[in-house]
Amino acid sequence: MRELVLTILIIGGFFVLRAILATIFFYYLIPEGDRCPNCDAVTLRVQSRGWNLLMPKFRTSWCYECNWHGLLRHGPLTPTVRSVGASKHSKFSS
Ligand SMILES: [Zn+2]
Repeated sequence: MRELVLTILIIGGFFVLRAILATIFFYYLIPEGDRCPNCDAVTLRVQSRGWNLLMPKFRTSWCYECNWHGLLRHGPLTPTVRSVGASKHSKFSS
């Protein structure tokens, strides 16, 4: 009986340890920032109630260039290029 308990504890311990190590490994495998892993374009942040509730440390993203959607780690964002003349607020600036 004692061997059975030890066997279950050891195998269960390895199972839990493997799940923890795989989670850490895949966390660092996910790219950081707002760039698409397929085409390196800037992605848009989208709201996904389920993913944002389950994994708040990730950024749910959608790439409008290649239609990729998935999770990215929070990181530095790509600065946006804004044209001065096309802004709708430019008429109030003078
Ligand atoms: Zn893409």
